Amino acid sequence: MVSKEQILIWLEDVKDPEIPVLSLIDLGVITEVVVDADQVTVEMTPTFVGCPAMDYMKLEVETLLKTKGITPHVNISFKKPWSSDLISEKGKAALKKYGLAPPPSNKVFTDLEILETAICPSCDGDNTEMKSPFGPTLCRALYYCHDCKEAFEQFKPL
Ligand SMILES: [Zn+2]
Repeated sequence: MVSKEQILIWLEDVKDPEIPVLSLIDLGVITEVVVDADQVTVEMTPTFVGCPAMDYMKLEVETLLKTKGITPHVNISFKKPWSSDLISEKGKAALKKYGLAPPPSNKVFTDLEILETAICPSCDGDNTEMKSPFGPTLCRALYYCHDCKEAFEQFKPL
């Protein structure tokens, strides 16, 4: 019989397919793990509507747990809506190291301000300008840093 803690440690190895430094745990999409008799149930919540990565992430979770001898039920549920505030501090640090500006907390900004405010992941400056609300994926917005003279992406707050 496996513990919930062990499952969470294993799931640290499942990374966001678009951001290989960010585990699904740090991304905050694993909302619940229930170990009940010999059944393991994993609840996941979708991040951005239309992010096609969700089916892939679900498959990755199933595949990883199967290598540990577990055939889990993986449910994708909207019960607990995802927000970028669910990204862990460790996850935000990993995003920045990867060159992606972590999402600002959506508790302190209004919707409009939030997209105008991005901190450059290279120089930590805010002399930045949004170029496009849609980066290479729906989950990211494109910015330009006037100090570094370089474009960067921000993981969109939600
Ligand atoms: Zn900069």
